[in-house]
Amino acid sequence: MTAADEPAGEPVWKVTLADSTIDVEEIAAVTEVLRSRWLTAGRVTRDFEREFAAAHGAPDAVAVSSGTAALHLAALALGIGPGDEVIVPSLSFVASAAVTALSGATPVFADVVAPDDLTIDPAEVRRLITPRTRAVVAMHYAGHPARLGELAEAAREHGVTLIEDAAHAPLVRSGEDGGGMLGTVGDIGCFSFYSSKNMTTGEGGMLVARDPALLERMRSLRSHALSTSTWDRTRGGVAGYDVDGAGLNYRPTEISSALGRVQLGRLPTDRARRRRLVADYRAALAAEPRIGVPFAERTGDSAHHLMAVLLPPGVPRDEVRAHLRSAGVQTSVHYPPTHRFSHYRRAFASDRRPLPVTDEVTPRLLSLPLHSRMTGAEAVLAADALIAAVRRSGEGRP
Ligand SMILES: *Cc1c(COP(=O)(O)O)cnc(C)c1O
Repeated sequence: MTAADEPAGEPVWKVTLADSTIDVEEIAAVTEVLRSRWLTAGRVTRDFEREFAAAHGAPDAVAVSSGTAALHLAALALGIGPGDEVIVPSLSFVASAAVTALSGATPVFADVVAPDDLTIDPAEVRRLITPRTRAVVAMHYAGHPARLGELAEAAREHGVTLIEDAAHAPLVRSGEDGGGMLGTVGDIGCFSFYSSKNMTTGEGGMLVARDPALLERMRSLRSHALSTSTWDRTRGGVAGYDVDGAGLNYRPTEISSALGRVQLGRLPTDRARRRRLVADYRAALAAEPRIGVPFAERTGDSAHHLMAVLLPPGVPRDEVRAHLRSAGVQTSVHYPPTHRFSHYRRAFASDRRPLPVTDEVTPRLLSLPLHSRMTGAEAVLAADALIAAVRRSGEGRP
C-alpha cells in the first residue's frame, strides 16, 4: 500500500509485517486465464494440484478455496462428528478448533512443548488420547516442523488420524527419517495460500493425503459430492451426475490456481531471503538477551513464515507494540490461545485444564515483520526498535 491508500489515521509503516511478491509472471498467468474465459476449477487447477503434489513428493493433491476449507474437508472426509474428540494445539490459528466444533465434535486443547518449541507436545497428546479421540492436529508453527515422529507413533498406536496443519509450511523437509515433506508425514496435510502466507493466491488452500481413497473423498466433497465435475461434463459430454454425500463448494478459481503455480515456483528464493532475514534478526536481537527467540536452536529446514519473539516476563506487550508502531514497525501476535476464547470456554469449558507453557508464553509473544521484500537493514531497524521499546517500557514507573 502507498501512503495515499492508507485509511485516515492509520500509521504509514516503514516496515510492514507481511508482504508478497506479485510480479509480471503472476499478472501474465492471471491474464491468460481471463482471456481463456474458463474461470472456475479446470485445467489450470489440475496442473497446480499436480505440481504442488510433485514438489511435496505426494502422489496427488486437491486444491481448495482456503486453508480452513482444507481443514473442514479433512474433518468431513474422516466422518468426525458428535461424541468424537480432536486434539488440537491451543497455540494456533482458531480454524482447526472451529472446524472440529462445527463438525459437532469436541476440540481438546493440548499444550506446546516449551517456550523455544511452540509446537504441540507429543507427551501431552498421549495423555489426552481417549477412546473418543479421532484425530490429532499438528501445526508447524512459523514453518518449523512439529515433532511428527513421536506424534505419528502415538497416533498409530491408538488408531488415531494425524492431520498436519501446514498453513505455515509449504515445501519444508520434515527432518524425519524417510519422512519427506511437511504435510505428507501425517495422514492428511492442509495448506493455506491466504494473503499473508509464504505463497499466496489471495485466498486458497491445498490438501494432500497418504490414502488415495481419502484424498478422492475430499476431492468429491469439495464439489457437492457430485460424481462428475462441470469440467468433465463440458469437456467430455458426460450426461448427468449422482450425489454421493453432503458436500460443499470449496473449489478454487482458475485465477487463484494460476497465481499459485507461479507462487510455488518462487518459494525457494523466498525461503533463502527469509532465512537470511531471520539470521539478521537473531544477530541484532542478541544485544538484548532478555528477548527470547523461539526455535533459535533448530538447525533443520523451516519455512521461516514468522519472526516470533518472546518479550521478557512482565514487560507490557501493548506498550512495546505502541513504541514499535510509532517507530513505523508493524507487529502482530501469533496467536492468542484458542482455549481462552469466549466461545471455547463457554461451549467446552476449555479454560478448566491448565496449559502451563501456552499460558506462560502467549502474553509474551510478538511477531516482527518478515517477508521476502524486506531488506536486512529493515530487519535490523525492527530489531533495534524492539530492543529500545523493551528497555524503555516500565521506565519511569515505581
Ligand atoms: C492461515 C491459517 C489457517 C487458515 O487458513 P485460511 O486460508 O486463512 O483459511 C489455518 N491454520 C493456520 C495455522 C493458519 O496460519
